[in-house]
Amino acid sequence: MRQPIAAGNWKMYKTRAEAKALAGDLAARVGSQEKAEVVLFPPYTSLEAVGEAISGTRIALGAQDVFYEKEGAYTGEVSCIMLRELGCRFVLVGHSERRQHFGETNEGVHRKAKAALEAGLIPIVCVGETLTEREEGKTFKVLDEQVQAAFAGIPAEQAGKAVIAYEPVWAIGTGRNASPEQVQQAHRYLRKLISNQYGFGVSVETRILYGGSVKADNVATLAAEPEVDGALVGGASLSADPFAFIVNEIAKAKG
Ligand code: PEP
Repeated sequence: MRQPIAAGNWKMYKTRAEAKALAGDLAARVGSQEKAEVVLFPPYTSLEAVGEAISGTRIALGAQDVFYEKEGAYTGEVSCIMLRELGCRFVLVGHSERRQHFGETNEGVHRKAKAALEAGLIPIVCVGETLTEREEGKTFKVLDEQVQAAFAGIPAEQAGKAVIAYEPVWAIGTGRNASPEQVQQAHRYLRKLISNQYGFGVSVETRILYGGSVKADNVATLAAEPEVDGALVGGASLSADPFAFIVNEIAKAKG
């Protein structure tokens, strides 16, 4: 059984005080939800405050990125150990906004996923095609390249702990979703890639989330897809009402 995940990526939103208030609100509303694993990804500056606000609840903490080296002269970067110290259990790697605006490469995503797994963090490896790639019929090729690169040389016992988020770039922050059929097709393909590399056992245990304009009014349809193990939510995770609703819908669909 794959425990579903409802993940909230707050991107570069929320001051420390705002993040703390939102986390407190979510702790009260969904802090005891057992049927879905709730994970909050605030900006680095709010990790500690959010960690305190969710302490004693079932909500987990995650960071939006990480650097793969353990320490060193890497101005502006943060290591896995530093994230662990703040109580992080999860980390996003390869989010399309990092690929698009900060030159994140498949090789970089691989090194981050590997470092995270070695440090005991659960990476949520984000993959997905751009609109042009979809229109040119390259969706599967892109997913193939991104997954192969991210997991290259990572042993099965570690890879089995990672989570994949299918996030078609054209659906992120655009209000435009992939259709349930497109999502189901991509997720099935991703599971096949994991199966080819690690075998059936690992593939059926790997959680694959959908991300891309998930909102209160479309979450039930998306979560109903058997291959969808939850959602990575950006915009709709920035307020408690829609995000708590999304968490509970995911729990209901998968519970
Ligand atoms: C995201 O940030 O991963 C995301 C899917 O954003 P949004 O829900 O706003 O499209």
